[in-house]
Amino acid sequence: MSSEKTFINVEHIEKLLADAKNAGKSVIDDVIREARKAKGLTPEQAAVLLQLDDEDTWQEVFRIAREIKLEIYGKRIVFFAPLYVSNYCVNRCEYCGFRGDNEASVRHALTMEELRKEILALENAGHKRVLMVYGQHPKYGLDYMVNTIRTAYETKTPDGKGEIRRINVNAAPMEVADYKVLKQEGIGTYQVFQETYHPGMYAKYHPANTLKGDYRYRLYALHRAQEGGLDDVAIGALVGLYDWKFEALAMLFHALDMEKEFHVGPHTISFPRLEPAYNTPLPETTPYKVSDRDFKRLVTILRLMVPYTGMILTAREKPEMRHELFELGISQIDAGSCIAIGGYQEKAERMEKQQFKIFDDRSLDAVTRELAEMGYIPSFCTSCYRSHRTGEHFMEFAKEGGVKTFCQPNALLTFQEFLIDYASPETRKVGEELIRRETEILNIKEKERVAKRMEEIKNGKRDVFF
Ligand code: SAM
Ligand code: SF4
Repeated sequence: MSSEKTFINVEHIEKLLADAKNAGKSVIDDVIREARKAKGLTPEQAAVLLQLDDEDTWQEVFRIAREIKLEIYGKRIVFFAPLYVSNYCVNRCEYCGFRGDNEASVRHALTMEELRKEILALENAGHKRVLMVYGQHPKYGLDYMVNTIRTAYETKTPDGKGEIRRINVNAAPMEVADYKVLKQEGIGTYQVFQETYHPGMYAKYHPANTLKGDYRYRLYALHRAQEGGLDDVAIGALVGLYDWKFEALAMLFHALDMEKEFHVGPHTISFPRLEPAYNTPLPETTPYKVSDRDFKRLVTILRLMVPYTGMILTAREKPEMRHELFELGISQIDAGSCIAIGGYQEKAERMEKQQFKIFDDRSLDAVTRELAEMGYIPSFCTSCYRSHRTGEHFMEFAKEGGVKTFCQPNALLTFQEFLIDYASPETRKVGEELIRRETEILNIKEKERVAKRMEEIKNGKRDVFF
């Protein structure tokens, strides 16, 4: 690894965390006052919350996170489906079931025919937004990605209703020229998780003689993506590889550096917890396992740190945990997920074909119904990205209250489309009641605007949005 400085300064982060342990009541009160303004936190302020232990004060912090979530995002939860495209991998990340030296792992890269079947299965369930995930292998590099992305966008159900409207990508770091190609293919968000931001720990999990062994190359992947024109990028840390408090502050430094360089922070942030993986001991033996209590605190602090950054929670988490976290800050989830290669058409979860184990395996229909019963609006909206509200433009739009005038109505419209085309009778009943209630509370102008579009959907028009 190069010894040149990066935006991650380990000593500085450790000092911030050490100093914050001694924060007195007035400092804590000041931080809480700042958090309430929903303008984000400085690393010093975030460190104070990360070291906070008093249960009563925590209740207050949870309350603020709930208010901010509701104020900025309303009651929408956006849905996506992960799609594992190829699990050939030359890396040997110690925690991953797909690592190259895991001989028990069954390898496969979807053919275009298989991919079409996977996409049709997702479309027939009602998905519009897919996250395509790739291992790293020279045989399945950029050309393969381009082919699979094109095929996925082109694959539509015969009745014309099922289509994928936004493809996000999670794939190993590339060069600027490669990102330009992905931009051309019309991808939405591009994700790279740093796994751990601690260089020493990173070296421990990622052997130096592998492609992923280059910490710095990975750290600046999203900077290169921005240079290549991909302006919706997503950061993340794999929680359980190192001290979660360190990772939280490191993600803030990452976001701040991107803001400094490109005037826009990450579009979303992910914080997957390390899950059991086939023939992979690390998830069980790690000393950095994060308890439910700490995970809840992490989500809350991230919400306060970067209020306008979308937060993704995956089906790695159990339903009960997911419910608690929705109100504290989560804006996007997956449902009906299968993370085995070819798993959507096979409908069989084979652990040896999976990267790791998931804990919420309910169908999209069941999860949307439950959300609607809880008062959340399941959203299948992809409008921002298709109306060029990405990167800096998206952030401006979000900060000027665009979420209420665009995202909320679009959530209602896309949920209505889902209810008509894909939902079971029970889900449709609960969902339509929710839409009725949510439309009722709009002001007269908004109500008319939404009602007109709802009528169009009921008359068979699709892909209706503001
Ligand atoms: N191969 C690409 C890479 O590593 O950047 C992208 C695909 S990788 C399958 C996507 C993410 O899965 C990784 O970045 C890592 O954070 C996560 N992951 C790997 N093993 C995991 C495990 N055991 N539990 C939870 N998440 C895991
Ligand atoms: Fe390969 Fe990604 Fe798994 Fe590492 S995390 S072994 S790079 S698929």
